[in-house]
Amino acid sequence: LEERAFAARHEPATTTDGVRIEVAANLGNTSHALDAVERGAEGVGLLRTEFIFMAHPQAPDLDTQMAEYRRAFDALGPHRPLVARTLDVGGDKPLDYWPVPPEDNPFLGLRGIRLALTRPAVLESQMRALIAASAGRPLRIMFPMVKDVAEFHAGKAIYDRVIADFDDVDVQLGVMIEIPSCALLAETLAPHVDFFSIGTNDLTQYTLAIDRGHPRLSAQADGLHPAVLRLIRMTVQAAAGQDCWVGVCGELASDAQAIGVLVGLGVDEVSVNARQIPLVKARIRELCQRDMSVRADKLLALGTAEAVREAVEAET
Ligand code: PEP
Ligand code: MG
Repeated sequence: LEERAFAARHEPATTTDGVRIEVAANLGNTSHALDAVERGAEGVGLLRTEFIFMAHPQAPDLDTQMAEYRRAFDALGPHRPLVARTLDVGGDKPLDYWPVPPEDNPFLGLRGIRLALTRPAVLESQMRALIAASAGRPLRIMFPMVKDVAEFHAGKAIYDRVIADFDDVDVQLGVMIEIPSCALLAETLAPHVDFFSIGTNDLTQYTLAIDRGHPRLSAQADGLHPAVLRLIRMTVQAAAGQDCWVGVCGELASDAQAIGVLVGLGVDEVSVNARQIPLVKARIRELCQRDMSVRADKLLALGTAEAVREAVEAET
């Protein structure tokens, strides 16, 4: 399969019943964008921009950021989209020049959009650099660690100021769904956003109350837990009919047992490590979306991640 998958890496991933799933790459470094395209990426589904900031001793200025983002756009060409996540620091990703007062629970503290909103000028310069670098090419901007629509609107207010300075843009604005409250309230967000990108790493961590990096417990932080699957289902259902697409950019998308579940739940896009792309596309081509959807309904009724994995295993 590996060899055949690689040979077909530039072909789209369409299920046996004709449902096209976009397969994009997760990226932390824009110098890897060309490699991702060469491996069959149909876009970048998650640019972790914080790594660009972490690589500098000071917050990079507008020109430095533009050069970084432009490198990704140039690699992607005129049609493949770039989904850029605004700064997601704090928690497990401290930034030396943005010290946060010590917290007992950094994962529940000042991180993601919460931290970024305390530095609106940085958020503004980041969006300005992204939009300028896009020069009309497809750009999707999303906010991390959003808990409800008010946080989205706070970020969007800054975006609205920036975008007003540009003409001829192709930009969409979305949120990551990685806090359970946001999945539960997806219906209140869907009319306002262009897309949802489900971050299963954090969504699983916060749903199951298991630190994703915990040395002994992290193996139990399984995104196939039915509680997580129900949140994904709610997100997809909220987006339906709202002109809002849904992607998955967490590790779950590259799990061989999970891809059929995600397709069955109705996601439109998955974003994975570039080297996984040929295989993920090959797996999707073997699936029937309708069958996966019927199966997903049954999986949602189960009580544990083990039961879900057993049921998936039994069918393959
Ligand atoms: C996630 O939480 O699933 C995600 C994609 O973001 P990160 O892993 O960077 O927190
Ligand atoms: Mg996350």
